[in-house]
Amino acid sequence: MDLYSGHINKLIEELAALPGIGNKSAQRLAFHLINMPQDKVNRLAGAILEAKENVRYCKECYTLTDQEVCPVCANRNRNHGMIMVVENTRDLAAYEKTGKYEGVYHVLHGAISPMLGIGPGDIKLKELIERLRGDVEEVIIATNSSLEGETTAMYISKLIKPIGVKVTRIASGVPVGGDLEYIDEVTLLRALEGRTPM
Ligand code: ZN
Repeated sequence: MDLYSGHINKLIEELAALPGIGNKSAQRLAFHLINMPQDKVNRLAGAILEAKENVRYCKECYTLTDQEVCPVCANRNRNHGMIMVVENTRDLAAYEKTGKYEGVYHVLHGAISPMLGIGPGDIKLKELIERLRGDVEEVIIATNSSLEGETTAMYISKLIKPIGVKVTRIASGVPVGGDLEYIDEVTLLRALEGRTPM
């Protein structure tokens, strides 16, 4: 027997499918949403739809942005010869928050994971290699220090070395398995300054 109406069950099911939301949280959220005033629900639903419709990949670095080219890539004062490779837009935001990095980024949207069946073709790697045809002096690999992040770093390094571009890896001041976005700015900067050639 279903405890709730079909509509509530459907909402719970959709919410529970989101990352980090278990069944209990999904139930709590579903009832919260149902009890919210109509205009607030409309605003939330509208924000989801608008973000989905208007957010796209920057055509240079592949971060998520509202414009064709993101503000970092569009900034001519940034050093476009220095590319920091990160796993996702949240990691980019973490480094951007330090305000000390003057280069540009490349967002992979994932990391290589044989266990999850994610191969080099599933992340924005080909796009990174394309960019190296331009004037690039250094590629800083800032993938996470998880197994997937390290695998990806090794893979990229092997791919880029023959091209003759300098490849460095951020220092391992970052705790193993740590998500870049949760690490404080001082640690991020120390990791960046202490980067070593690969
Ligand atoms: Zn960009």
